[in-house]
Amino acid sequence: GGGAGSGGGSRFDLEKETELRFEVEAGERVQLELLSGLAEVFGSELNRNKKYTFGPGSKIAVFTWQGCSLSLSGKTEVAYVSKDTPMLLYLNTHAALEQMRRQAERENERGPRVMVVGPTDVGKSTVSRLLLNYAVRLGRRPTLVELDVGQSSVSVPGTMSALYIERPADVEEGFSVQAPLVFHFGSTTPGTNIKLYNKLTSCLAEVFSQRCEVNRKASVGGCIINTCGWVKGSGYQALVHCASAFQVDVVLVLDQERLYNELKRDLPHFVRVVLLPKSGGVVERSKDCRRETRDDKIREYFYGFRSTSFYPHAFDVRFSDVRIYKIGAPSIPDSCLPLGMSQDDTQLKLVPVSPGRDLTHHVLSVSCVEDDAEAGESRSRGILESPVCGFIVVTAVDTQAQVMTVLAPAPRPLPRHTLLIMDIRFIDLK
Ligand code: ATP
Repeated sequence: GGGAGSGGGSRFDLEKETELRFEVEAGERVQLELLSGLAEVFGSELNRNKKYTFGPGSKIAVFTWQGCSLSLSGKTEVAYVSKDTPMLLYLNTHAALEQMRRQAERENERGPRVMVVGPTDVGKSTVSRLLLNYAVRLGRRPTLVELDVGQSSVSVPGTMSALYIERPADVEEGFSVQAPLVFHFGSTTPGTNIKLYNKLTSCLAEVFSQRCEVNRKASVGGCIINTCGWVKGSGYQALVHCASAFQVDVVLVLDQERLYNELKRDLPHFVRVVLLPKSGGVVERSKDCRRETRDDKIREYFYGFRSTSFYPHAFDVRFSDVRIYKIGAPSIPDSCLPLGMSQDDTQLKLVPVSPGRDLTHHVLSVSCVEDDAEAGESRSRGILESPVCGFIVVTAVDTQAQVMTVLAPAPRPLPRHTLLIMDIRFIDLK
């Protein structure tokens, strides 16, 4: 093959077990077409003679097990064929997980619970997607647990979520997010509030286990847990916590032998810890690139993707109609804590926020908690452990009139009136 120049498409003929990797230039779009043979993008099969469009910044690998011809048109930053991929190892991993599902079926047990770990930019999300796709293509119903609060593939950044997978990911848009279970974390790194992070991990594990008790397919399908790239200190402890909360059976460590050895040492002996190489195709992403991806994710929440456009609504919300909280009081020295109170309590404390101009551009989660839920301690625990039913962005605050203007996915009124503030801001340029 050759580079994708301007004008007509470039043709790439791929031998079996090779992949075409390409990146789309900023501000450009690239079209991909499968001319003959069979090929897949991160485990989702391509239809022949269908044009797939990838937007600016996309980093894609089209892999073929059997050999294929592809056509690529539009401006790519790079486009090359690689014979050197770890796909066979990933397929073997899938085969091993499928064995475990079969055994679970036979013996009325639960299927594999898998945690995918590794530093940033080793392809954790991609491997998760691949394994989920292969499982669902065999008729399984695995659950994706998304714990990467920086780059969530399920919801807006700053959330932790679970998604029951019923069909392969769309080649262009990823998994369809019909009814995800989403919790508010509030920031893009677990380190901002590690107590809350661990607590929400436990909440997700509990909800997933409950689902497995009533849904046999979910139980046999198991789960794939995608984690953050923070693998040191408290980040590492959070992985160990997650393994225990979900009672994981398998840990896939991408690309880091040290992490592999630590987990082998610290996890119970029955947990299978497997070291897998990263793909040479995984592209390192800069801080700016990550921020852009986060912005895109929020924009997508309000405006939809190419095939489904949404029309968000803007309206005023009176301060007196909502209760806004931030989770976690600023930590204070241990010696200053009131008797009987620990740092954990401050990290999990709901702090009322009085609306002011500094609220502008912040993303707020709308908690599912009932508006008339009882007040006090149990209510605040209720809020913390309740999923969210949606998000809004504050676009303006009028302190005189005591109202704020918000961008919301649906017309007024808000479905619920307990709002949780995120550190994350979104400036709507549309
Ligand atoms: P993070 O820690 O930031 O969440 P990650 O480890 O989950 O990162 P991915 O998001 O899976 O990494 O991959 C990083 C980027 O590399 C993505 O844009 C993905 O589409 C791309 N990518 C993954 N595998 C390949 C490949 N084989 N060829 C080309 N691009 C790839």
